[in-house]
Amino acid sequence: MTLGPAPALLLTNARLPHGSPADVLLRHGRIEALGPAGGLETAGGPASGAERIDLTGHLLLPAPAEPHCHFDKVLLGGLGGDGRADLESAVAAWYAARSTATRHEVRDRALRASSELLASGATAIRTHVDVGVTTGLLMVEALTEARELLAGRLELQIVAFVDFPLRGRAGADNRSLLADALGAGADVVGGAPYRDDDPPACLDILMDMAAEAGRPMDLHTDETLDPASATLAALAERVLVTGFPHRVTASHCVSLGTQPRELVERTAARVAEAGISVVTCPGTNLYLQGRDRALAVPRGLTAIAALRAARVTVAGGGDNARDPFNPLGRFDPMETASLLVLAGHLSPRSAYGAVSDAARTAMGLPRTRIASGAPAELLAVRADTLADAMADGRADRMVFHRGRLVCRTRHERTFPAGIPGGHPARGTAP
Ligand SMILES: [Zn+2]
Repeated sequence: MTLGPAPALLLTNARLPHGSPADVLLRHGRIEALGPAGGLETAGGPASGAERIDLTGHLLLPAPAEPHCHFDKVLLGGLGGDGRADLESAVAAWYAARSTATRHEVRDRALRASSELLASGATAIRTHVDVGVTTGLLMVEALTEARELLAGRLELQIVAFVDFPLRGRAGADNRSLLADALGAGADVVGGAPYRDDDPPACLDILMDMAAEAGRPMDLHTDETLDPASATLAALAERVLVTGFPHRVTASHCVSLGTQPRELVERTAARVAEAGISVVTCPGTNLYLQGRDRALAVPRGLTAIAALRAARVTVAGGGDNARDPFNPLGRFDPMETASLLVLAGHLSPRSAYGAVSDAARTAMGLPRTRIASGAPAELLAVRADTLADAMADGRADRMVFHRGRLVCRTRHERTFPAGIPGGHPARGTAP
């Protein structure tokens, strides 16, 4: 269904993160005006003729975004892996399964995952999908179809996650398919150069192809606890030396979290200088990394504090969900944010910034704020505080994309026998 222009919308009695109840007027996909509750409703005022939605009891936030997921494998379940549950066994299970994937089946899983993420508040999603000789362009075609069906409801970016080999004669077909994928609807050049014997040479190929096509890059720079992995540092140097003119995002960067402090700080400074955004994916890396350790199991996260101290944009991504790489996953940036609080030691406010403002920056999208003129990408969540909103995954939510209400979720709970202290908003108190 094609959507017409969104009507003007007045959100009333919204609780802003740092303020008293406010009214917010949305028009033409932007926040047109803000005022104290009731302040925009004067006769003939800016909100005349606007539809109204009462947000009493809701916290109004800039909408989160999902900067890193894999919709080609999402919702496939564990695929009966070999029980090791580490990265290599997950890759093997996926590679065994993907050769029988069909376009419709991939598209339908992508649509389901998209709707779940949208219901959580993510109005922009970036998915990596495999491109290579095994599956050709099937995954890109499935996702471009999903993107057309979702137009107007959310923004979907497609990263061509190219297979290896990539170098020399052996990599010719994969290189050619990567170029084809960019012509077939993929937006961004992706890949996992650390999985090759010569990561710097792969970086050169990917950067040359991205530069030629005029596209951003989003690379799985590494996903290993091996402190010797230096792909992130090599990427930063190449961006600085070549003056690569498009946005560069480095995902996972697990190795950086295991390296000596001086090296980490040096790399973080160069990553900042190169303007590279880093996406950490706590759910999947907490699950996959450190499987060979019985005690003091490392968390598998990148050096979040050092990167932030160097003023690198650090975003949080959900990555895998209900597939061999992660049997769980709630399709909810609030879950990613809560993991960044618990395992990454960010404050709730910083963690929410990682899954909203920073996520959009990593995706090359304009920043969102609750201010006049900002894009009307908003999430209203029934909660008193940001920490409550993160803690309560079931909280009622309303999601606005380009100034239009695109999803509303209400949870109903009753205590037929009554319950002392039940939440008055949702429980039935005696
Ligand atoms: Zn990934």
